[in-house]
Amino acid sequence: MYINKAKIIVLKIGSSNLVDKRGKLKEKWLKSLVEDIKKLVKSGKSIVVVSSGAIALGQSYLKIKQKKMKLEMSQALASIGQIHLTNVYRKFFEKNKIKVGQILISLDDTEQRRRAINAKRTFENLFKLNAIPIVNENDTTATSEIKYGDNDRLAARVAQIISANILINLSDVDGLYKSQKEKKIIKEVKEINNEILSFVDKKKSIYGSGGMETKLEAAKICMNAGCFMAIANGNHQHPISKLMKDNKCTWFLPKVSRLHAREKWIVSSIGSNGRIYIDDGAAQALRNGKSLLPAGIVKIEGKFLKGDNILIVDSKGRDCAKGLTSFSSDEINKVKGLKSDQIEKILGYSSKSEIVHKDDMVNLK
Ligand code: GLU
Repeated sequence: MYINKAKIIVLKIGSSNLVDKRGKLKEKWLKSLVEDIKKLVKSGKSIVVVSSGAIALGQSYLKIKQKKMKLEMSQALASIGQIHLTNVYRKFFEKNKIKVGQILISLDDTEQRRRAINAKRTFENLFKLNAIPIVNENDTTATSEIKYGDNDRLAARVAQIISANILINLSDVDGLYKSQKEKKIIKEVKEINNEILSFVDKKKSIYGSGGMETKLEAAKICMNAGCFMAIANGNHQHPISKLMKDNKCTWFLPKVSRLHAREKWIVSSIGSNGRIYIDDGAAQALRNGKSLLPAGIVKIEGKFLKGDNILIVDSKGRDCAKGLTSFSSDEINKVKGLKSDQIEKILGYSSKSEIVHKDDMVNLK
C-alpha cells in the first residue's frame, strides 16, 4: 500500500465530508479523521490538510440556505466561515495533542516561483515544529480571474511544491467510476487519456466547487510531479484507516520523470491562458533543446506579462512546450516573425533575444 511508504502526505477534505446536508459540522466524522491522522503522524509521516468548508460553514453560521451566490457574497461568507473552520481543526487536533498552523493560499503564491519557494519553506518549518498545516484558498480576496476556485488543483499544486509522495483526495465518490450505474471504479490510472476523460461525470456535490474534471486536472499535476493521488470516498468514519484497509479508491500513478523541481513546477503551472503558436522550424529547434526566438512565432493568444507561464503550440495545434516568457504579449506581437537583432530597434530598448529561454522551458513531447 502506497500510504505506508509515504513520508509526506497531503489530505484534501471536501466540504461535503465536513458539513452535512443541513449545514451542520460532522463532529463525529472529524473526530475519527483526526484520530486517523494522529496514527499517521505517530508513524513519522508529515501531513498537510487542505480543507474546504469555509463557505459552507459561513452559510450555516449565518443560516443562509441559498446555493448559488455572487462572488462578493461568497468572499464575505468565506471570511466568516474560515475562522470557524480553523478553530474546529485546532480544537480537534489539540485534543490529540497535535499543533496546527493555518495557511491561506492565493493563486500567485503557487504560480510565482519566488512565492512558491517561500510557501514551501513555511510548510517545511511547520513540519519542523511538528505542526500540521491546515490549508485553504484565500477566498476572501481572490476574484474569479486570479482564483483556483477548487481545492483539488490547489491541493495538487501544494503537493507538487512540497514534493509530497501522496495526495489523498477525499470527497463523496468512491473513485473514478467506469460505470455510473453499477458504481464500478477504476483501480489504477497510469495515463489520463481520452478513455479516462470519457468517464468524467460532470455532476458536482452540493457544496464543493470542484468535480471529477478538476480532480483529473489535479491528478495530472500529481502524476507529472512524481506524486501518487487517490480519489476516495471520505464519507465513512475513520476514512484513512478504512482506505488503508480496503484500498477502495482510484489510484493515479506517478510518471517516471527526469525533470528537476523547477521544471515540474513549470509543467504544472495553472492560471495563464497565454499561448504562443510557432512554425515547424521553431518546433524542430525546441525538440533539439533550443530556445524560442521571435522568428519562429506565428501568432499569440491571450494577454500575458513577462515572467508568466505560457503554452507553446505547433502548426498542427499540438502542445509542444511550457515555459516562462521573457516578453509580454504586447511585446511579442511587435517582434513576432522578426530576427532577434531587430528586437531592440522595434521595441526601443535592449532586451533578451530569446522569447522563452531553454532553461525556462520544458518540452511536452
Ligand atoms: N475554498 C472553498 C471553501 O473553503 C471550497 C473550494 C472547493 O470546494 O474546492 O469553501
